[in-house]
Amino acid sequence: MPTLPSLLPNWIGGQQTLAASNESFDKLKPHDGTSYCRVTRSGQPEIDAAVAAARAAQVAWADTPAVKRGEILHEIVLRMKAATDEIARVVADETGKSFKDAKGETGGAIQLGLFYASEGQRLYGRTTTSGTPYKYAMTVRQPIGVAGLIIAANTPIANVAWKVFPALICGNAVVLKAAEDTPATSWLFAKLAHEAGLPAGVLNVVQGLGSEAGAALVAHPQVGVVSFTGSTAVGKLIHQQVGARLARLSLELGGKNALVVCDDADLDRAVTWSLLSAFSNAGQRCAAGSRFIIFESVYDRFKELLLKRTAQLKVGPADTDDLGPVINERQLNNMVRSVSQAVEGGGCLLSGGGRLNDEAHAKGFYMSPTLLEGIDPQAEISCRELFGPVAILYKVRDFDEALALTNNSPYGLTACIHTKNFHRATRFCEKVQTGVAVVNAGTFGSEPHMPFGGTKLSGNGSREPGTEALNIYSELKDIYLNIDPAQL
Ligand code: NAD
Repeated sequence: MPTLPSLLPNWIGGQQTLAASNESFDKLKPHDGTSYCRVTRSGQPEIDAAVAAARAAQVAWADTPAVKRGEILHEIVLRMKAATDEIARVVADETGKSFKDAKGETGGAIQLGLFYASEGQRLYGRTTTSGTPYKYAMTVRQPIGVAGLIIAANTPIANVAWKVFPALICGNAVVLKAAEDTPATSWLFAKLAHEAGLPAGVLNVVQGLGSEAGAALVAHPQVGVVSFTGSTAVGKLIHQQVGARLARLSLELGGKNALVVCDDADLDRAVTWSLLSAFSNAGQRCAAGSRFIIFESVYDRFKELLLKRTAQLKVGPADTDDLGPVINERQLNNMVRSVSQAVEGGGCLLSGGGRLNDEAHAKGFYMSPTLLEGIDPQAEISCRELFGPVAILYKVRDFDEALALTNNSPYGLTACIHTKNFHRATRFCEKVQTGVAVVNAGTFGSEPHMPFGGTKLSGNGSREPGTEALNIYSELKDIYLNIDPAQL
């Protein structure tokens, strides 16, 4: 078991510090509702101090050759590898997910770190021809300065890695506002980075609430790039604030992702992927599948199989369980309310629908895996992300109707189709209005070297991770070299 401070501090300028106000908040364990630790409640003074520390450290960090920066990031990756179990234990305790899932997530974060560590050798610009004689034209990547990073709690170590590694390899210094529901993962990552030799002040972690520390970071005039993963509602607010000062902004927001089951799909596999899409990580994925769009000719068979397998799901925090609790009681209550409003509005509850109140679950924040049908595609619950284990079944006549319904959403993050028909699969990928399209698998799943992101209310067009994230965290500079100054 990792030893955590009982009052979790910030990391500012290489030091662990507490908020000047001396205030703190409680972080609860989602699987039993007991206190995990207290967390220092930072605000404007701590954000000011973290940004100042980052600005001071960034100059030397930017002057460190990118290859060397990559070597230091690689050292962090090695520390993460050595501490895999420790990180996974913290992730599991903070989120309520199983240790096995937390370990898988930690492995993903390590892969991501490895990818960006190597990018130190590949921070390519472009050299090209010039329209003028005796001239070379080229581009180079330069850091922006201070990166303000704000993350959600659903996959905490992956979310940290997803933003911190690309920001650092580009030569920025970072102020990371930890998610208030997973403060210890960010704290532990900063500790490992510190031990790995990352210079003090290059990575600062500030603990606190979104409306306090988060808002102060977003508004800080010396934060040149803000990268945010979270809800669309908060993303819109941040867009206004960051846009007003024309700073760089990446928004990775919510989704209401569709999984289409065609009449020629392998129904057993489609059910397996539907269950994973809707319920793994307790449905707390931006890429979770929450709309199942099924051809009418296979609707009843698919529904029967899905209900049978949903009834077999095991809910709890153990490695043998299929899904754990949701992150906090507020989220749980919001979901329960939305489902009961949908049922009052005429929707049919097929499974679950409420909090699990039996002895094994009552103290934790457990939502029963929930399936609904008979809901209007325009109803509130069809159009708003719930971020939990809740999915709705819709019946459609054919491919065209399935595609239209998939696209009939305010969000555009991911979509998946199950079919054996090549033309349907390729047409779906071409016409679906999402940033990610998948054939014969789940609505979720991204790789470190691939760009992830969405259209419409799912983002602002930015893509992370992959080499595409380098465009968020670096500025391109055009350089022209006159190779013969004697020539005019
Ligand atoms: P949230 O928007 O409430 O909070 C996310 C983060 O923003 C937290 O760290 C919070 O402290 C901070 N925050 C809140 N208000 C803020 C403000 N006014 N200014 C600055 N920061 C503020 O979201 P959540 O409920 O914690 O997370 C779930 C959401 O995240 C879902 O919508 C999910 O789809 C989304 N998400 C998106 C991706 C993606 O890559 N697209 C990945 C994971 C999660």
